[in-house]
Formats: sequence, C-alpha cells, structure tokens
Amino acid sequence: MIYKAFPLLILLFSGTVGAQDTTRYLIHAGRLFDAESAAFLENRFVFVVNDRIEAVTDADGDEHAGYTRIDLSDATVTPGLIDAHTHLLFMQRSNVPMEQDIIQHTDHERILRGAERARTWLEAGVTTVRDLGNSGTYLDIPLRKALQEGWIDGPRLFASGPIISPPGGQFDDLPYYHEPIVAKEYAIVRTVEEARREVADHAAAGVDVIKICATNDHGLTLSVEEMTAMVEEARRHGLRVTAHATYDDVIRDAVRAGVDGIEHGYSVNDETLRMMADSGVYLVPTDGTAEGYIHIFEAGPDIEISEENVRNWVASSQDRLRRAIAAGVEIVWGSDMYLESTDPPGWAAVTGLVSYAEAGIPTVDVLQYATRNGARALGRDDLGVVRAGALADLVAFRGDLEGAFAATLQDGLVFVMRDGRIHIQD
Ligand SMILES: [Zn+2]
Repeated sequence: MIYKAFPLLILLFSGTVGAQDTTRYLIHAGRLFDAESAAFLENRFVFVVNDRIEAVTDADGDEHAGYTRIDLSDATVTPGLIDAHTHLLFMQRSNVPMEQDIIQHTDHERILRGAERARTWLEAGVTTVRDLGNSGTYLDIPLRKALQEGWIDGPRLFASGPIISPPGGQFDDLPYYHEPIVAKEYAIVRTVEEARREVADHAAAGVDVIKICATNDHGLTLSVEEMTAMVEEARRHGLRVTAHATYDDVIRDAVRAGVDGIEHGYSVNDETLRMMADSGVYLVPTDGTAEGYIHIFEAGPDIEISEENVRNWVASSQDRLRRAIAAGVEIVWGSDMYLESTDPPGWAAVTGLVSYAEAGIPTVDVLQYATRNGARALGRDDLGVVRAGALADLVAFRGDLEGAFAATLQDGLVFVMRDGRIHIQD
C-alpha cells in the first residue's frame, strides 16, 4: 500500500520547502579584531544570515526584526582561528616510536579518535584546520565530510592526503616486518614521473592542498626536479603545495621549486628568508612554549629532560621567527600538535600562539597569523576575516585579549560560531 502514501508525502515535503529556516543573528562586539588591518575596532555590529556575514556596521540602527541579538559588548570578537598545520588522525607520545600509533590502531579507530580530537580544536576557538597528513590512506577525506556535514562537531577541515615523501617516509629505522605501513602512511616518490603521478592521484582523490616532505630528516630529500614537477602538476589542478623543510639547503631547494609555503623552517638562514620573502613563500613556524613542551614530556614515558634544553630549543625557534619577520616573510600559524599532552590537544595547539607572543610579537600580528594569513595560505578570501560575504566563523574572548594575551586566549573564550552555527555561548 506504500505507493498510495506517496502523493501525500510529496505534498507534505513541497509544503515545507518555502518555509526553510533562515537564521539571523545580530552580534554586538565590544571590540572587533579587524584581521585585514591588524587592528582592534571598538563597538561593532556583525549581522549574520545563515552561514555568512551579511554586514558589519558601527551602529546597530533601529529595529532588526527577525535577528537574534547576541550581546558580546564586554568581549573581543575575532575571526575563528585557523590552524594551518594539524595531524588529527595521528598521535604520538613523546619518546615513543612514530610507528606505534599506526600499528596499534585500525583506520576506523583513527577516524573516530580524529573526530574526538577535532572537537577540542573547535572548543579552543579554532574553526578551520589544514590537516597535513599522517592520516593513513586518505582518512582525512571522510573526516572532512563528517565535519562539513555536521555529523560531528569540529572545525572545517582542509585535507592533504598522504604526505608525498622520499623513500621511507618519516619513520626512523623501521623493522622490516613493519615496512608495509610506509606505503599506507606516505606517497613515496623516487623519480620525476612518480612525483607528477602522485600529485595527479591526490587531485583525483579530492585533496585541498599538497603536502610534501622536502626532507624526511633521515638523510633523504626530494630533488629540485621532483619538487618542480609536483608544483607544476599541482598548479594544473588548482592546488597549492606546502613543504615540510627543516634544514636551510632543503628549504632553499623547495623555494626554488616554487612551493607556496615552508613548514617548520627551524634552521633557515637570513639569505634564504630573504629569498622566501621575495618569492612570496610563507613560513609556518610550528613552535610551542617551554611549558607546553614540558606537558608533552609529562604525557610520555619517563625520560630525563633538561629544562635548559627545552628553553634553548624554544629560544632558537623564537630567534628564527623574529628573523623571518624582519626579512618580510609572511607568517602563518600552525600548531603541528600531534604529540600527546596532559592538556586537551586543541588547547595544547593554541599554546603555539602564546609562543609567538612570548617571542615579543604584538598581539595584533599574532592574531593576523592565525586568521587572515591562514586564509591566504588556503587561497580563501572568505575565511579569516569579519566582513560582508565572508563565512560566519566568529569567536569571542572576555578579558584583555590585547594586553593579557596568553591568559585571555586560554581562559577567556566565551563564544564560538562556525558557518553561522553557535557551538559555544557563555
Ligand atoms: Zn607536521
């Protein structure tokens, strides 16, 4: 008898189409961070319709029937933060071999845990992440879909698929019986032809960005020719390329090959930094605070760590960040928070911004690295800014965000909206 019910169902359905819900919010921001000019504006009103910002004004005018008012007049509103370097599907305890996590967890377990980890980024004010591999064989693609469809709560995710790497991937001396995990976790290239084909395969799989390992940090590097071929192929598919590169000569090769960004860049020299600035190549300094590193060591098995070593490492990262800024390199925030910490991972990630502030960088610049600059690295002008037409990703902090940055960033978050949907409201 089911066929008889059909006309009725169709009638019911068509009756609801015109009445589709429109959500409208009018947000009163006591202060608003303007990511384009890197300045705080006093008293702004942000009008949100569905998933987009409709308008930003300095007066709320008269009646706004149909808009739900949100009073953040005692808070600072910023664009949702963008973490340009995550590994949501991978986790490592300090002083435990990298392969351990991959061997011990099935793909299904990694996706479910990735979903749980993703939520902690949103709860820390991050509404967009660029996930840069160590995500098995394209496990980031279904995670991206689950986040986009709203099946789970978390940030918007940009996926990169398996990291394209020289032989061996980033593993350290794998026993032969674990070698199959290299091919599961990395796309290995040995020739220019393979390099080109891997990028084409990634594009076909639907990635948003290409992540390459210019060096695997175990003595093997991609050649300039291989990287150049990958950049060319990526451009054909409208994709950007970012390179894990730690040592100066490797960074220079990657820049020569035409990559868009350098991840880490720990021992980059001033001449290479000037090359990066001239070529418009951004740097993602995946830095942490001394306190954050200590929480990571505390989460792993007992090892002797000297606090002096940690502080020296932090000091050298800060020096590299300041030199990059002095050379005119665009800075993009990325946490690289794959290490287990005693803190929830999203919160541990945000300490990366505190590390920039501790290096002496003004709050407005740090916020720009984590908003507009992240969006630029993604090639998106409708993210990382609060203006008409942009996606409604907004967060708010109560307290003195500009003057007491670390404390307010970590304890003052009172509001999180992604795609016009409120996730946190205090
Ligand atoms: Zn990384």
